[in-house]
Amino acid sequence: MAIDSKPLNLLINTHWHFDHTGGNEWFHAAGASILAHENTRKHLSKATRVEGNWQYTFPAAPAGAIPSTTFKDEYSLHANKTTLMLQHYLPAHTDSDISVHFVEADVFHTGDTFWNRNYPFIDYSTGGSIDGTIRAAEANIAKVTDSMIVIPGHGAVGKKADLILFRDVMAEQREKVAALKKQGKTLAEVIAAKPGARTDAEWGNGFMTPALFLEWCYQGT
Ligand SMILES: [Zn+2]
Repeated sequence: MAIDSKPLNLLINTHWHFDHTGGNEWFHAAGASILAHENTRKHLSKATRVEGNWQYTFPAAPAGAIPSTTFKDEYSLHANKTTLMLQHYLPAHTDSDISVHFVEADVFHTGDTFWNRNYPFIDYSTGGSIDGTIRAAEANIAKVTDSMIVIPGHGAVGKKADLILFRDVMAEQREKVAALKKQGKTLAEVIAAKPGARTDAEWGNGFMTPALFLEWCYQGT
């Protein structure tokens, strides 16, 4: 598949974060309308504070960057000879996450509910949690077939096996952190115990360090 010279007419946001909506104003100016979950519109319409390691208040997006079409649970459309099925997740990475299934092409886009071999950022300020992240991973595994191409929010394009690995790594570290926290360990002690030693070298060298990811696990257990 290649990008052709036809005019842009539709942009889909998988959630509200700036690294997935930062092109909205440009795409809108180039002629595209913007489609997203209703909570993406809500968060982009006003100043939104994100705590955790971001510690930043995102200003309201410019008018052209605000999604003009929104939905709550599901939305389907037909474009470029394929059916697009959009579905909202229960709160996971944020409260605005959607998946996009390109049915005939057999491609499934998970947005930021799936980071392929990278520890995820989890936005507790707008509804995300480690348990919601694991729940969304389970939903993705139930939905995806062995033949599907899976597009993550971050990391390389993958397959169902990569989703299963992501779910297993999330669940394992959540359980280890929960057990240490129950023993009364502080966050610093949990980080020092290196519960992710098996995957830290590969998964913790991107946007999220092992310590930051453990903070999300600690906060949610
Ligand atoms: Zn995100």
